[in-house]
Amino acid sequence: NHGRVINFGAGPSALPEPVLEEAAKGLFNFQNTGIGIAEISHRSKEFTSFIANLESLIRKQLDVPPTHEILFTQGGGSNQFSAVVLNMLARWRLLHPEAPAEEAVMDYVVTGSWSKKAMEEAKRLGGGRVNAVADSRQFSQTGKAFDNIPSHDAYKFSRDPALIYYCENETVDGVEFSHEESSPAAFPFQLLGQSTEKQLLPLVADYSSSFMCRPIPRLADHAIVYAGAQKNIGPAGLTVIIARKDCLVDVDAAARLGAAPVPIMLSWKTLSDSKSLYNTPSVLSIYMTGLVLERIDSLGGLKYFEDLNRRKASKVYAAVKEGQDRGVFQKKVKDGSESWMNVVFEVFGEGAEKRFLDGAEKKGMKGLKGHRSVGGIRVSLYNAITEEQVDTLVTYMNDFVAEET
Ligand code: PMP
Repeated sequence: NHGRVINFGAGPSALPEPVLEEAAKGLFNFQNTGIGIAEISHRSKEFTSFIANLESLIRKQLDVPPTHEILFTQGGGSNQFSAVVLNMLARWRLLHPEAPAEEAVMDYVVTGSWSKKAMEEAKRLGGGRVNAVADSRQFSQTGKAFDNIPSHDAYKFSRDPALIYYCENETVDGVEFSHEESSPAAFPFQLLGQSTEKQLLPLVADYSSSFMCRPIPRLADHAIVYAGAQKNIGPAGLTVIIARKDCLVDVDAAARLGAAPVPIMLSWKTLSDSKSLYNTPSVLSIYMTGLVLERIDSLGGLKYFEDLNRRKASKVYAAVKEGQDRGVFQKKVKDGSESWMNVVFEVFGEGAEKRFLDGAEKKGMKGLKGHRSVGGIRVSLYNAITEEQVDTLVTYMNDFVAEET
């Protein structure tokens, strides 16, 4: 296995080995062109048909409706923090040509450090009012921790906002909206109603760390769903945007009416008009993402991964619970708000966290250290992590608990 260890890192993160093998070949010779994938023109017919196939695989897996386009760009999730604000404010301006700018309200649901960062960018860019619809820290014991998804009565949505923003899975804090409709930790879609021809919801979701790990609930009601590739589907350098067509707005027309000018590469319409080839895209990253998508398809699609990821997460949470009952581990996130992708917990005892990490490394497991802002342990369980690898970790966790007690 080329001396590889089990990599539970949060991103960039493990990729499936068969994909790496295939990509290594493509680096030398992409689809018998005699040219490597990092060397071939992005306008070659081989590459343009590859990217078209990637698009159709994403469309198929997520059941993306014809009302939505799939766009590819660079700059990661962070670039979309800015793009979301600029494009959605331009859209609002075109819908309300006469209204004063302060009437453009941007609703942010804050459930962790990534949605908080996105909201801060909205404040930085200005051009409207920013409203924290709900801030989950208020509902934590300390008033400071992002450790829960707020219950539905906590949300204070604005009337006719320019955008409504949430982050589906908070990678650092390990909290995620539930996909069980009856769960109090499900996203409160019912408070927003449904997109209709007359009322198109300006709903924006950051799916960076949960894209393609299971289906997206109510995808059709979203204006925008975006994700950086570097967790579940590929290397860093590619961002996928699923955009409802009414969001592909003429940003220059909006600017003439007083909206902020939008850098050409941040305009979703630019990406759409150029079939995501306005400039040179991240060719290698797109290629590897395409290989991952082909693999997802051949294994049985998102249903397969949803079942697999549910089993993986429940095994790790069960091991945390076992350790918690014996005073060794402490789960950080409240019941019902736990992420399937990023399991965060603490290890109790003098020097115990270091012992846990060192011991894991000796057994060939890396990437388990929690984000520097929250500490503790974080186990990332993206698609490429196998159930067998999870079993290895769980055995280690159980042994560790036995040794510490
Ligand atoms: N959103 C989420 C949920 C993330 O996990 C990350 C990165 N880990 C980002 C946004 C920022 O993405 P990028 O580093 O690609 O800019």
